[in-house]
Amino acid sequence: MFSRRTARIGGLVIGGDNPVAVQTMYDSQIADCDVEQVLHRMRLLKAMGCDLIRFSYVSSRDRDSFERICRARIMPVVADIHFDHRMALEAIEAGADKVRINPGNIGARWKTEEVVRCASDHGIAIRIGLNSGSLPRGYEGERKEDIMVSSALEYLSWFEGWGFDNTVVSLKSSDIETTILANEKLASQCDVPIHLGVTEAGGVVSSSIRSTYAFSRLFDRHIGDTMRVSITGSIEDEVHAGVEILRAMGMRKGGVRIVSCPRCGRHSFDSQGFLSRVENRLLAVDKDITVAIMGCQVNGPGEAKNADVAITGIGNKVFLYYQGELYKDVDEADGEEELFALIDRL
Ligand code: SF4
Repeated sequence: MFSRRTARIGGLVIGGDNPVAVQTMYDSQIADCDVEQVLHRMRLLKAMGCDLIRFSYVSSRDRDSFERICRARIMPVVADIHFDHRMALEAIEAGADKVRINPGNIGARWKTEEVVRCASDHGIAIRIGLNSGSLPRGYEGERKEDIMVSSALEYLSWFEGWGFDNTVVSLKSSDIETTILANEKLASQCDVPIHLGVTEAGGVVSSSIRSTYAFSRLFDRHIGDTMRVSITGSIEDEVHAGVEILRAMGMRKGGVRIVSCPRCGRHSFDSQGFLSRVENRLLAVDKDITVAIMGCQVNGPGEAKNADVAITGIGNKVFLYYQGELYKDVDEADGEEELFALIDRL
C-alpha cells in the first residue's frame, strides 16, 4: 500500500494525512436554477459538513450560472463532464476547481490532453472517474474491477506523461464487492488520492448501509480521501450520511449529536415530524453538543438529563430541558424556535 500523495482542489487539500472530505452532487441542471437559491443551499450544505460539490456541466447554457457559483467561493466546485471535452475547457475557464472526466467517454486522446493542459494552466485538479457501467470495449471476459484499475492506470500514465499530477481517481460500481476490490487494487498499485462512492445505491436506508459497509472496509485500510454517499433522495441527506459515517468511525469530530427516540405506543409528541422539520438546521449548528428529541414523558426526561438541550411533549405543550434540567414548557408551535434559542445560549 502506498501512502497517498495529495491533490489540491481550490482551498481544499486531500490525500496524504488530510481528513476525508465529504462531497455531494447538485440535483438540478444549473442553467435552469435560481443561482441565489443554489448558493443558499450550498451555504447550508457547507454548514452541515460538505467539503466540495459537483455540478453537471452539460452545455454552454450552464456557463453563466456556473461562473457565478464558482465566484461565490462557498466551497470548491467540481464540473462533471461526460462526452464533450469542450465543456471541460469551458468549465475550467469559468472557474471550476476540479473537473471530473472519463477519458474513455471523451473520445480521441488529444481531447483529454487539451483538458489536462488547460487544467494545468489554471492550477486545478482533475478526477478520472470510471464507473463499472461504462467500461471501455475490448476487455470482454475480464473482471470489472480489473478493467477499471487497468484503465485508470493507463489514463494516469497519460496524465503523468503530460506533466500533470493534481489528479484524483474514482472507481465506482453499484456492486459493493466490485467497488471494494477495485479500490483496493488501485491503492496497491499507485499513490493517487481516491474518491469513494457506491453508485446507484438506492434510497436513504439502502444507500447509507451499502456505502457504510464499503467505505468502512476501505477506510480500515486507509483507502479513500473523498467520498460521496449517492442517495436517490436529497443532497442534504447525502451530506448528512457522509458526515455521520465519518463521525461514527471517529474520523470527524464535533457537530450536533442527535438523540431521538424511535417512538412507541406511548408517544404523545410527534418526535418524528419534529425531527424531520429541524434536522438539517440542527446539523448546520457549529457546536459540539447533544440534542435529544423524545416522544413522551416516560423516557424523555431521562434522555434529557444526558443532553445539552432536549425537547419532549404532551398534547399541545412541549417541554424544553437545558443542561439536564426542565427549563420551561411552551406551545408546540413555538417549540422549534425555543429549541434553537436554547442552543444559541449554549
Ligand atoms: S421516549 Fe417515550 S415514545 Fe419514545 S420510545 Fe421511549 S417510551 Fe416510547
